[in-house]
Parts: sequence; structure tokens; C-alpha cells
Amino acid sequence: MSATSDTAADRVITRFAPSPTGFLHIGGARTALFNLLFARHHGGKFLLRIEDTDRARSTQPAIEAILDGMRWLGLDWDGDEVYQFARAERHAEVARELLARGHAYKCFATAEELEAMRAEQRANKQPLRYDGRWRDRAESEAPDGAPFVVRLKAPREGSVTIEDLVQGSVTVNNAELDDMVLLRSDGTPTYMLAVVVDDHDMGVTHVIRGDDHLNNAFRQLPIYRAMEWPEPRYAHIPLIHGSDGAKLSKRHGALGVDAYRDDLGILPEALSNYLLRLGWGHGDDEIISRDQAIEWFDLAGVGKSPSRFDLKKLENLNGHYIRAADDAMLADLVAPRLGFALSDAQHALLVSAMAVLKPRAANLLELADGAAFLFRIRPLEIDQGAAALLEGDARTMLVKLHAALEAATSWDSETLDAAVRRVAEDAGVKLGATAQPLRAALTGRRTSPGIFDVLTLLGREESLGRIADQIK
Ligand code: GLU
Repeated sequence: MSATSDTAADRVITRFAPSPTGFLHIGGARTALFNLLFARHHGGKFLLRIEDTDRARSTQPAIEAILDGMRWLGLDWDGDEVYQFARAERHAEVARELLARGHAYKCFATAEELEAMRAEQRANKQPLRYDGRWRDRAESEAPDGAPFVVRLKAPREGSVTIEDLVQGSVTVNNAELDDMVLLRSDGTPTYMLAVVVDDHDMGVTHVIRGDDHLNNAFRQLPIYRAMEWPEPRYAHIPLIHGSDGAKLSKRHGALGVDAYRDDLGILPEALSNYLLRLGWGHGDDEIISRDQAIEWFDLAGVGKSPSRFDLKKLENLNGHYIRAADDAMLADLVAPRLGFALSDAQHALLVSAMAVLKPRAANLLELADGAAFLFRIRPLEIDQGAAALLEGDARTMLVKLHAALEAATSWDSETLDAAVRRVAEDAGVKLGATAQPLRAALTGRRTSPGIFDVLTLLGREESLGRIADQIK
């Protein structure tokens, strides 16, 4: 049996189906991205389904974190999201139809009975599988009103081959699969049934998901076949590993996408570009816009082996997107990170500072840190490193610099540069010997953007005031 079905003529419909038991992690975000790109590339639809059937573990904050993370990353799904739990009655209806078609049966085995069966299998070193004891028994053999589950009457002979669009041809013998439960004794559907019914009802043509679900495909296909529904194509993508090759954990940066945004100051374009390149390639291209990604994306370009997460690479990409970003947009992202409310004038100053701050920053935290000197209150608090630059002859030098700058006829880089150089030449020292104490006095720190950029951004009055504070 082959699971391939020719959907080329149909419109492509993909979906992302997260379980809201935690944040949107980067593996999930990448799965969503691949689904979106594949759908957009083919002019199809990208749908979102929240798999909230696990009532104990699904939470509203997790749902919100997932929706929020997807919006932030521009993973815009088509139409309203589907909530799986709300469709439980529809899932049960399909189970009843499978019963009616003779593709499912009621199993009245008690929990104790099944435990004894498993104990025996364990003792005989056999795989633990339901043995089909109610598969061919009549319902009338069960005690009146006894609880039952509904099980799929799965094929016992032969094998199933899936032509996976990433993994290639994968075959499983039907003998390895038991008759799985579709409806529990309380009438609630199992996850395996819900996924298939929802994917069918949503018209999903391509199931693109983590390869930890490959085994599930072999359990899900028999449901399609029993219902005589068109089968989807599968693409199981390898998971993301840490830089050391081990399964991705918190230690490696397996954080929610909100942590990349809030704690690491990553831009969504950078994370999206990084996730795209993680496991998919287009020649040597590193910087790939969303439009290009849509044009180029294909499943053939997805590698079969797990990709390794590399925070340094992400930060490099982030630096690129920061440099390319609009100054006003960046200032809006940096402003809330400064720790106080900016006046309009301060906000305007922040915008104009972006051009000199951007080249030095790999993330928004560094950008905010670099901008902080603009808003420090006089007299500046001088940190330890900067204090060292103000020792020795530094104050004598600052007196000369103050006088030279005060005498400058205009407050632009060129004029100020010339004035500072003259002071250095007259004193017979290198430019650095003047720039260092100047930087310390103007910013309170050892590092800052170029000193003439600092002077022009601060303006004449503020600059002279800050220098004067250190001479007193
Ligand atoms: N809800 C599953 C998960 O979050 C995904 C199921 C699927 O994609 O078929 O892992």
C-alpha cells in the first residue's frame, strides 16, 4: 500500500497544530514557518489549529503566548484558528461512523484485564500491544451496561509505505501496530482520532511537522483509509539540536520566542531568517527576506539530519537586521528598554542617535545600553572603567578641551574634530589621550560611539556642562 496521493491539482492547505502546554518554542516556530512558506509558495492556505484536548495541561496563557509569538514573527495564518477541544462531538461522530462501517469495534476489556495482558507480554519479552481480544467478539458477550472504548480495526497484514517529502520512503509492517483507541470509555476522542478528523475537515493537503510525529502517521493513515478520505502528503522535518549535537534543551537556548524578543532583544525578521536557514538552504544565501523565502521555499531543500542551533549566528543575523532597520522603528523598540518615559525631544534624540548606535549593536539590549548615555542626568555617575580615564593629567586636558570646544564657532563633527586635534597637537599627545577623558566625561563609560558623534548628539550646552562637571 502506498500513502501517496496526487494533490498537485488541488490547492495546497497546510496547518500548524501546536499543543498549548507551554510557550511557542523555536522548534514549533520553525515548523509553523515552513508550513506558511510552503502554502504561500503554492498560492495555498496556512491554517492554525490549537490542539487543546489535553485539558489538564492546556492553558489559556500558553494559547496567548503561541498566538502572540506567531503574530510577532509574522506567521499570519488564514482565517480563524481552530480549537480542537470544541470539535470533540465531531470526532465522536466519526468514531461512530467507523463503528457503523465495521472499521471500528467496541472493546470491553477492563483495566485489570489489560494490565494482566501486558504483564504476560512483558514476561514473554513481547512488545506491549493490545491483542485484539474484542476485535471479533459480539457486543452481546459483554455484561449489560459495561463501559467500553472504541478501537480502530486496523489492517493486520501487509505494510504501509509513506513517501515522506523529507524522509523519503518509510515502511512499517501492519503487524507492528495494534488496534488503537479512538474513543475513551467516557466518550472523549483520542488525540490520534482528533488530528485526522480535523486535518480532513480543514482540507489539509500537506502535513508538515516534526519528525517525532512520523510514527503517528502510520497510526493516522488507517483512519483516512477506513473513512475513504483523501490522504495528505507528509513531510516530517528533523528536530533542532543544540550546538553540541544533543537534543535542544533550555541550556542551548530552547526558549520561547518571547524570550528571544524580550530577553535577548532579537528582531522578528532575524529570528525568522535564522529559523528558515536552520534545516533549509538556498545555495549560500544567508540573508533571505520573507518574499524571497516564499519564492524559493521547497521541501526538497529541507535536510534529513537535525540542524544545530547556534546563538552566535542568530546574533550575527540580528546585527544585520538592526543595521538595515528603520531608525524610527528601532527607536520605538529601544525606548521601552531605557527604564523611564521619554519626552518627545528625548525620543527625537533617540531616533537621530540610531545611525551611530546601529553599527555597534547585535541586539536591542546593546542598542539600549549604547543609547543610555544620551539621557544620563548631570553630574554623571562615572563607572569604574571611566574613572580610571579621568585620573592623572586627564583633568588638565579636560580644561583645555572645554576651552577649545567652547570657542568652536559651530557644533558639527568637522569643526569639533579640528578643535580637539589642535588641543592634542599643542599638548604633544596623541588624539586618543584627549578622546579618552572626553569620552569618560561625556558618557561616564569607557566605550561609546565615536567621540564626535557623542558631542554632536549631546549638543553644545549638555556637552560643555558634562565636561565642566568633571573639572570642578
Ligand atoms: N499537537 C502536536 C504537537 O504540538 C502536533 C500534531 C501534528 O502536527 O500533527 O506536537
